[in-house]
Amino acid sequence: MLDYEDAKALVFENVIALEKWLCPLNESQGLALSEDILAPHGMPLFDNSAVDGYAVQAADLATASKDNPVRLEKLGYISAGDTGEEQIVSGQCVQIATGAPLPPGADTTVMKEDIELDASHVRFFQAIPKTENVRYSGEDIAEGQTVIAAGTVIGPAQMAVLATFGFAEVPVRRVPKISIVSTGSELVDVEQNPQTGQIRESNRYMLAGMVKQESCEVVKMSMVPDIPEILKQEFEEALQADVAMVSGGMSVGDKDFAKPLLKEMGVEEIFWKIKFKPGKPLFFGRRGKTLVFGLPGNPASSYVLFEEFVRPALRQLMGRKILEEEMVKARLDEAILKTHKRLHFMRGILHVENGEYHVRPLNFQGSHSIGSLVESNALIRVEANSQALPKGCQVSVRPLLNEID
Ligand code: AMP
Ligand code: MG
Repeated sequence: MLDYEDAKALVFENVIALEKWLCPLNESQGLALSEDILAPHGMPLFDNSAVDGYAVQAADLATASKDNPVRLEKLGYISAGDTGEEQIVSGQCVQIATGAPLPPGADTTVMKEDIELDASHVRFFQAIPKTENVRYSGEDIAEGQTVIAAGTVIGPAQMAVLATFGFAEVPVRRVPKISIVSTGSELVDVEQNPQTGQIRESNRYMLAGMVKQESCEVVKMSMVPDIPEILKQEFEEALQADVAMVSGGMSVGDKDFAKPLLKEMGVEEIFWKIKFKPGKPLFFGRRGKTLVFGLPGNPASSYVLFEEFVRPALRQLMGRKILEEEMVKARLDEAILKTHKRLHFMRGILHVENGEYHVRPLNFQGSHSIGSLVESNALIRVEANSQALPKGCQVSVRPLLNEID
């Protein structure tokens, strides 16, 4: 049985980032840049005014004070979008809008709120340093600078930068297409009332939700009874995706057909079973370019395994730089007395108190626990065969994207 770290390394070794393409800017949110974005020009594009006011020569205002204002001749008005060619000389000023180009001859701008109009002149009441209220060409982003690194996921901030630099199309990697097949003869659809021995199927929705958090595309979601012929048909379709997730049937029960069937269908087993809790029977394999994750049907196992193995794999396929959210150090608010032979990622509640992370494990850690999914927002790493962890000690915690009460 593999260690968590070795299993994870095997997953990463088998994932190759998907193809690059040019995506329309508007559709690029959530995708990862496939190339560094270099600034094709500096920003700001030209020297411009930071305020609505009057462009002047700072030297003209050197003696200005409340009692002894300086009067300058007012030329015209440069609005945003004007070319700003109107030249000023000493003794003159020109009204200017925020973002309008600073005219030749001017070296600073005085705020409109600080002046008084006087017929064709403007009165100034204070001196102003040269360069005040001016936004200089290239001061924000220099031409040629790497402004966003390859592998960064595109969010609103990246969108703004890409638009600024004229990227109507953005170099990204294709997102993986994912198929999800839930197996189990006990499962019924969400609209149905479970009869004795049956339960409503939930893993499909949970896993699809997690896939969508990564902006990946769910191309198939199905639910199948443990009948080999039907399973085979569904698996064949699922194996057309970039990543196939099979839920349930991965263990050693008489009706756990999923793993042997996948192998029979040409899926090469990379590993099966890991020294990890919850979710020991994790299966990872591949057929051609398709990666296959066999997740045990217990909802909490699937959930945690997705977090720890599938999410990072999806990110690697997308070419993302950050494959997983970093673990944080937190103070344990309740002792963990029972530890296990396997590494245990315990569901817990993480919160901040006086600027410090605190965490406590849920009392109920059953791998079948549906309740724990909505009660936890973190996973606490408890090493295999570790001593009991006393209250107050520091533990490593993976924060989860999950809102809890
Ligand atoms: P299995 O891994 O197929 O042995 O299933 C383990 C447990 O998880 C059983 O109690 C199943 O009823 C339950 N289970 C399996 N698949 C699902 C599913 N898709 N949704 C909810 N529970 C499931
Ligand atoms: Mg089953």
